[in-house]
Amino acid sequence: MNAPATTELPVVVIGAGPAGLAAAAHLIDQGIQPLVLEAGQTAGAAVREWSHVRLFSTWGEVVDPAAEKLLAPTGWTRPAPATYPSGGDWADLYLQPLADVLDNRVRYGARVTGVSRAGRDRIVDADREQQPFVVHIAHADGREERVFARAVIDASGTWATPGPAGGSGLPALGEKAAADRIAYRVPDLKDPAVRARYAGKRTAVIGSGASAFTALAYLADLAKTDDGAGTKGVWILRRGISGSTFGGGEADQLPARGALGLAAKAAVDEGYADAVTGFRTDAIERDSEGRLVLVAEDGRRLEPVDEMIVLTGFRPDLSFLDELRLGLDERLQAPVALAPLIDPNQHSCGTVYPHGHRELSHPEQGVYLVGMKSYGRAPTFLAMTGYEQVRSIAAAIAGDLDSADRVELTLPETGVCGGAGLFDAPEAAQEGDGGCCAPAPQLVQLGAPATVGAAAEEAPAGGCCGS
Ligand SMILES: Cc1cc2nc3c(=O)[nH]c(=O)nc-3n(C[C@H](O)[C@H](O)[C@H](O)COP(=O)(O)OP(=O)(O)OC[C@H]3O[C@@H](n4cnc5c(N)ncnc54)[C@H](O)[C@@H]3O)c2cc1C
Repeated sequence: MNAPATTELPVVVIGAGPAGLAAAAHLIDQGIQPLVLEAGQTAGAAVREWSHVRLFSTWGEVVDPAAEKLLAPTGWTRPAPATYPSGGDWADLYLQPLADVLDNRVRYGARVTGVSRAGRDRIVDADREQQPFVVHIAHADGREERVFARAVIDASGTWATPGPAGGSGLPALGEKAAADRIAYRVPDLKDPAVRARYAGKRTAVIGSGASAFTALAYLADLAKTDDGAGTKGVWILRRGISGSTFGGGEADQLPARGALGLAAKAAVDEGYADAVTGFRTDAIERDSEGRLVLVAEDGRRLEPVDEMIVLTGFRPDLSFLDELRLGLDERLQAPVALAPLIDPNQHSCGTVYPHGHRELSHPEQGVYLVGMKSYGRAPTFLAMTGYEQVRSIAAAIAGDLDSADRVELTLPETGVCGGAGLFDAPEAAQEGDGGCCAPAPQLVQLGAPATVGAAAEEAPAGGCCGS
């Protein structure tokens, strides 16, 4: 079947999360038909998987203006702007009503399995850009379908591809075999079955971002309850502890985000969690009781734990975009023009400059990665960034370059400055390899007598050996 004329075709949006639904609203605002394809059975399917987690942004910061315009005629009103939704609130009170207004422009149970140019694989140049996109879909009921599109906005997020426990970015040896004791999400301790899994247990938490802070704070709260007595967190850090380890604290312009780091610090200070620094997980073994023994790259072994919570960030799933000519940064897997703006190796304070269609463009014209996926492996994505991205892209697709180029966004600073890589960058290299003279990983009891703390502070904050 020959591909129809491009201009009559919709813009396909992959994913009915915050960024995808905002993209649809902005396209409609520009008089362009969107077709939103969502793998899940509801809007915000990924957000619903962290329904129990409260956002660190207020309602005022997570509602897209064009979406609000679409919702207003239905009598929808934004919840109190200064209050903080949970993931569940965000999905139920905003994302689903928005998807309902978009009606049959949103298809559920429609997983995108491939995107290409109609009749042109990745190699073929011949009048490539005159061809529409072809999008392959696997429906939940087993049917397959293809649809044509004038442009494709991939807002499929990164939730489905969390990072592993392994210190080198690969799953640690034995990690797959230990899957029954490992979670890659902040646990919902209000769920009795989940609560029982962690109550009174020793749980390793790997990671150093907002989610790891949240998990440590949740475990500490559990430990303070009657049915949670004896609950202990073991916080595994690939680096030493430094001033920025707990985030920006009071300096964070998103106070609720700053508070997460402070809650994690309190969990360690009050003894509900031990911080183990300079530990790069290489293998996960079992002891005779089936408990997990984490082994570091240098062979050091931790006391057995009952459970592990791995929160080492996310990666983009690029597999279904293989037939397209994308320009992605080799480190972050983010668009090359955006990467320098968000690279944690370089960037501090969480200041991300307003960016739009130009920074999100690829050699393949007409395809854009937006939202959480646009950041690739970089942390600190905020919903309001995604909203500005899709506003600019919709204007660009409509041909209104003035508006598309007028990107305006002021992001709240994290209060954490200093590039030097992801804050758990591998500073503590093996002595053997002539690298750092870093001290052995040590159990840190913050608030404990100065000596121990002092040792931790000496842990490399910058380059090797304090350089
Ligand atoms: C625990 C947590 C807390 C956060 N808190 C905040 C906060 O307070 N403030 C803030 O600004 N940001 C926050 N974020 C970051 C970010 O805003 C959210 O992750 C947001 O959900 C990202 O929106 P998105 O639309 O890009 O991706 P997602 O919400 O992940 O949506 C992607 C959608 O695409 C669908 N999908 C995936 N693959 C396919 C496919 N192949 N075909 C079809 N559909 C597909 C998924 O089912 C999903 O519904 C938080 C993130 C997490 C994980």
